[in-house]
Amino acid sequence: MTFFILCLFAGILAGCNGPSSKTQAFTRTDFVMDTVLGEKIYGSQDLTADLQKVLSDLEKEQLSWREAESIVAKVNEAGQKGESYETDEAFAGWVSDCLELAEKSGGAFDPTIGSLTRLWNIEGEHPTVPEEEDIQSLLEETGYERVHVDGKKILLDSGVQLDLGAAGKGIGCDVAANWLAERKDVTAAVISIGGSIVTYGEKPDGSPWTVGIQDPRNEDGVLMGSLELEGTHYISTSGDYERFFEEDGVRYHHILDPATGYPADNSLCSVTAVCDSGLLSDGLSTACFVLGKEKALKLLETYGAEGILIEKNGQVTITEGLTKRFRILEKEKYTLE
Ligand code: ADP
Ligand code: MG
Repeated sequence: MTFFILCLFAGILAGCNGPSSKTQAFTRTDFVMDTVLGEKIYGSQDLTADLQKVLSDLEKEQLSWREAESIVAKVNEAGQKGESYETDEAFAGWVSDCLELAEKSGGAFDPTIGSLTRLWNIEGEHPTVPEEEDIQSLLEETGYERVHVDGKKILLDSGVQLDLGAAGKGIGCDVAANWLAERKDVTAAVISIGGSIVTYGEKPDGSPWTVGIQDPRNEDGVLMGSLELEGTHYISTSGDYERFFEEDGVRYHHILDPATGYPADNSLCSVTAVCDSGLLSDGLSTACFVLGKEKALKLLETYGAEGILIEKNGQVTITEGLTKRFRILEKEKYTLE
């Protein structure tokens, strides 16, 4: 009561008005992890550049195999010498989570697929289909069961390379949300790193977050549907339209099936996974894309995650938790099963 009266008469006192009186939305578009970073942070000061730096440091110092000084690069370097490398709790946790997903997905998600990705070089200038024997010989060097985590130490079997690429943007969303949680004046935010998004907190006006789902068969970024979510969620989409090339009428995209060494080929063309972890939503979207519709639905269930599965024929399947949250915008092109 006393507090209330004090606020009424001394509204200028910082804090009495609550954060909302000074809250505004700060936005920024930038680049990180080879993709577009979109930030919208509701708070009293512009923290978007600070968060961009946090994510770019995460990439350079920890996740990127391209950076010689990153933890991933050090793990790989030590592994080639038959030695383990001591990381930190967070990093070892990410690797453990990736290995668990690898196991639960029957190897559809495999964080040792990096050397094959580099062979395919789908993002290169003139990608072509690699020689069958090169694919087979690299396949022999992959396998998540050849990565060993012991506390903070990571040991790789000879020849194996660790690549957290398929979960990196989701890890970025986790790191972003944890960073925002430490900033008391931040009430809400939505951060997107390529196809991985975190909606954080409640929007000041109380309305739900709206997340667009891209039309996988339209290169102009047209949305096929939209998802309405309240509070903090992690949403990731993997599709065959993000990075690909065509040869002899066949589409070769960036999500590889670790069982064959070739791009995953089933009825799916886009998978969105929604859950309470960035790493998992990112990893699950990749794993589900490789697994195909039926097994994907089972894997989502195992993790208590929700999903939107789009098939090449325009059929859309959603999990039960999204029935009231998802709607199709391109009704002539897509139908809900
Ligand atoms: P998406 O968001 O479409 O899943 P990302 O850009 O997140 O794509 O992931 C690309 C990364 O995924 C590359 O680093 C590649 O090495 C890796 N990758 C491709 N296929 C797999 C797979 N089956 N399991 C794990 N990682 C994979
Ligand atoms: Mg991914």
